Amino acid sequence: MGAPLAEFTHGNVHLLGSSLAGEETFIVAPELNVAFDVGRAQRELLGVDHVFLSHGHMDHAAGIAYYFSQRMFIDTPPGHLYAPVGLVEPIRDLLRLWAQIDGHEPPAHIHPVEAGVDVQLRRDMVVRPFAVNHPCRRQDRSTIDALGFSVIEVRQKIFEEYAQLTGPQIVELKRQGVQITRRVEIPLVAYTGDTAAGDFLELPYVRGAKVLLLECTFVEPDHMDRARAGAHLHVRDLGAIIPRLENEKILLIHLSRRTPLATAKAMLRRELSASDLERVSFFMEHRRRRRPAIAEPGESPE
Ligand SMILES: [Zn+2]
Repeated sequence: MGAPLAEFTHGNVHLLGSSLAGEETFIVAPELNVAFDVGRAQRELLGVDHVFLSHGHMDHAAGIAYYFSQRMFIDTPPGHLYAPVGLVEPIRDLLRLWAQIDGHEPPAHIHPVEAGVDVQLRRDMVVRPFAVNHPCRRQDRSTIDALGFSVIEVRQKIFEEYAQLTGPQIVELKRQGVQITRRVEIPLVAYTGDTAAGDFLELPYVRGAKVLLLECTFVEPDHMDRARAGAHLHVRDLGAIIPRLENEKILLIHLSRRTPLATAKAMLRRELSASDLERVSFFMEHRRRRRPAIAEPGESPE
């Protein structure tokens, strides 16, 4: 059994996963076939074809080899992992090393991604990486910058002046090469991964996503220096951040595992207005209700 799972639905955004700092972070959007980070590769991740890795810290990335290997054993086509450029070769090395230990190198698609360069997953959906503020220092002292991701639905909307035209009239205009539609982007869910505050919070596809998964690692008053040192957010940062965001729902992730949720919620109430509190919650508050019908033999009901 892995860490406890949370589940949250808002409109057409359905999220499932677990997020505690130092322990595990992965969030799956099953209907979008997308996941953010790998965590320890719990079962809920294995059916997702497209996994976006924010950075290489162990609590976000530990299950990479297991994810690919389990998909091989359950006869699922190889998964796709999208990772910051500097992590792609080390991840390939990791899989090769596992082959020396385990005897199998699972098939894997590993793609480098960069801030601002869309990954087209469907004709009507892209994932847009963005730079966050969480530099990860490697052993050789070089750093790799972490990424956040926004899943954006793309629609073609017909211009007002053509809205009343009949089918054949539209066909005729298209034949003449007239542009009758414009591209409309609807950001569904954005994920910051780990980060301190930064300009990325001004991006329309972050601050305007229907649901924002925003990190908030620390809440204790004397942990502000830890937040700054580790490039994380402290609950006291949120009072300046949240009122500027337009998200319908904001889910706080990556809370320190030593902090009880009740304490965190009490600290949050001190920072935000009543109207903001209505749209902000900790992701792990939304504990997943286990459905008895899918309980497996030998698993306890809780
Ligand atoms: Zn981190």
